[in-house]
Amino acid sequence: MKVAILADIHGNFDALERVSEEIEKLEDVMVLGDIIGYGAEPEDCVRWVVEKKAKVLLGNHEAACIGELPLSWFNPLALRALLWTQKRLSSFSIRFIRSLPPVISDFLQALWVHGSPRQPTEEYIDHPFIAREIFESFSFSLCFFGHTHQAEAYILEESGRVERISFREGGKLEILPDNRYLINCGSVGQPRDGNPQASFAIFDTEKRIVEIKRVDYDISSASYKILHSGLPEYLAYRLEGGR
Ligand code: ZN
Repeated sequence: MKVAILADIHGNFDALERVSEEIEKLEDVMVLGDIIGYGAEPEDCVRWVVEKKAKVLLGNHEAACIGELPLSWFNPLALRALLWTQKRLSSFSIRFIRSLPPVISDFLQALWVHGSPRQPTEEYIDHPFIAREIFESFSFSLCFFGHTHQAEAYILEESGRVERISFREGGKLEILPDNRYLINCGSVGQPRDGNPQASFAIFDTEKRIVEIKRVDYDISSASYKILHSGLPEYLAYRLEGGR
């Protein structure tokens, strides 16, 4: 079985449509939160995950939209985007967001979160030191996460060493039984690892291989919509540089 793993779509429907073409034949789609926020088409992105019957987690942007995370948690730019987004979501989408769990632990023997297992919607796993603490506090073999918008993996090897691998240009990772893994599939709609291409993963559960894929999409279309929507301009320009 092959499962598509998407995170941090962030209202970028141009990127999502492009990724959607790539995963058309896959039945299972996992979405690790932050469907909304920053991009100009949040409602379309929520409708897409609903139509796909994806398994979906609560991200920090969703949590804030339904009052489960204080607005003071966000920087001024994110906050402006959040308030803009809140006004544009239908009551259907708000109801859907209210139904989302912060953690899934009973799918494919893996742990699935937006941020981290200890703070599912808030903590950023962005350093081997944090990854080691997470490995020591939880017993999973395989955990998929998002939130940092960086496609990368932290691997706890049998020797005790934590290795960090970047998937800035995509790549494949074989899941070995003696290692433990924290894998970030990167961001569909707002990559921040220097590569502006949309990022997502495909997990082949039989071969035990996770492939991180990077695909071009129409960035100028996504930027144009942001610039003409009243959202902060920087949110359009950052897409070009993938930062
Ligand atoms: Zn995000």
